[in-house]
Amino acid sequence: MLNRGTRWTPSRHVPEGRGRGDPGYAAPVAPPAPTPERRTGPQVRGKATIARADWRRPRADRIARLRGRLQQVYGTPVERPHGDPIGELILTVLSQSTNDRNRDIAYLSLTDRFGSWEDVRDAPNGLVEEAIRRGGISKVKSARIQAILEAIGEPLSLEHLRELSVREAQDELCALPGVGRKTAACVLLFSFGMDDIPVDTHVSRVGTRLGLFRPGAPLEELHDAMLAFTPAGAAWELHVNLLRHGRRTCAAQRPACGDCALRSLCPRVAVD
Ligand code: SF4
Repeated sequence: MLNRGTRWTPSRHVPEGRGRGDPGYAAPVAPPAPTPERRTGPQVRGKATIARADWRRPRADRIARLRGRLQQVYGTPVERPHGDPIGELILTVLSQSTNDRNRDIAYLSLTDRFGSWEDVRDAPNGLVEEAIRRGGISKVKSARIQAILEAIGEPLSLEHLRELSVREAQDELCALPGVGRKTAACVLLFSFGMDDIPVDTHVSRVGTRLGLFRPGAPLEELHDAMLAFTPAGAAWELHVNLLRHGRRTCAAQRPACGDCALRSLCPRVAVD
């Protein structure tokens, strides 16, 4: 297992909303009955895009209503930063193109096989690849993991990020090989509780349908927009509850709009 200080067990630390059960949630009150659908904004069907010049950022009172409705349904996630940024970084690399179960198996296999992140970095690539095989595309991921660990340098630590501003920490993480805004946000939010927010496929889809994101916006803009409309201290809650809503109700195919607690607040942008 990894040395004390670098060891991290996903089953204890992966926050709900990333594929775990339901720990860490305040009990939600009974979900409100769906309210009659009414027009809440432009109904944009199909694969819509809106030009930047024509886009208006969502108003704070609308964000507050959506947050409140989501909390009624899903409760308030308890923020529990785990303090292991390198573990989070590696876990996020392993999560690409696989499900949560195989990601976690690959992570545990890696941490069981090697004694420290230094050992992972310095090992022959074939051994790392073998350890994470269950997570899929192991050749690519093993090379990526070792390149990231190499690029961090000595000491092999990201502890100092917690002392930086969110923007400074993002820039430092995004300078690592293959690390983008979503991965950087996972590290900053889940490790340190910093106000950065991962916009994954669920958050992106739900946010676009709700009219929070400009349809057709690139990933960088989605992250900036999410940060701009999220009140300070609400990053964890809004990320997890949007993600939950995307998994439970607002599915990619056939969203359950008829049963959706957000229906009266949703313009259903780009829903066919
Ligand atoms: S399920 Fe339908 S009504 Fe609910 S958030 Fe998604 S698109 Fe909107």
